[in-house]
Amino acid sequence: MKSLFIFAFFSAISIAAASTAYPSIPGLDSGDCSLTGDETNLVPPRREVYDDGRLFDITHRFVPEMPVWDSKEGLGHFLWLADSMKNGSRANGSAMKLGVHTGTHVDAPGHFYDNYFDAGFDVDTLDIGLLNGLVLLVDVPRDNNITAEVMKSLYIPKGVRRVLFRTLNTDRKLMFKKEFDTSYVGFMEDGAKWLVENTDIKLVGVDYLSVAAYVHSVQSHLVFLESREIILVEGLKLDGVPAGIYSLNCLPLRLVGSEASPIRCILNR
Ligand SMILES: [Zn+2]
Repeated sequence: MKSLFIFAFFSAISIAAASTAYPSIPGLDSGDCSLTGDETNLVPPRREVYDDGRLFDITHRFVPEMPVWDSKEGLGHFLWLADSMKNGSRANGSAMKLGVHTGTHVDAPGHFYDNYFDAGFDVDTLDIGLLNGLVLLVDVPRDNNITAEVMKSLYIPKGVRRVLFRTLNTDRKLMFKKEFDTSYVGFMEDGAKWLVENTDIKLVGVDYLSVAAYVHSVQSHLVFLESREIILVEGLKLDGVPAGIYSLNCLPLRLVGSEASPIRCILNR
């Protein structure tokens, strides 16, 4: 009886651990433990925060359960072991097939302007200087899309060039839910216009798959991308990171001819 109880107890713990492993909360990730653990236990570290809380990884992991635009099924099977040592290959070699707007990613001007696409304004042409530098992480009022009114209320000073907008999407953990949710919040057209006309922001980061609210998914993108001066980073993982000023490092792949790319983004304080 006692052993049954112990078994049940540990089963409960492992179920809890499995359910907290993904989604994970930065700083509480169980993977951290393995850093000080026995080298032989072969538990790989999976971290959200590095260097004693100095570096935050704000990139989502690619997993089959992550949401993709307008799908109930999530990303699904995207990675496979094309060459396997178990099947006699000299080394393991994986292959993948992935939409370029999957997970944490960046949009280039060609995403909503076909003439820019044809002219070659792909992710390889994005300004790396803009993707790396001082950034402001702000909390947006939770009850609303990002409208002109909301933008006004944030009082983002002139001179600020990069802003990450944390919204209700983070609270709702939408990026950890397989089914695409059209009720996510994002920029309404008037909010995008207000930003373009009244601020110096050239890098806009958001915490779901689109910078634009679902009902304005075309209009807001058009406003942001028209000048080809604004870079949109979408699907950021902003859970558990204190609001404030950081140094941002974001690096897309050099996908020539592509209007988007997966991107790795790190905040450094
Ligand atoms: Zn996109």
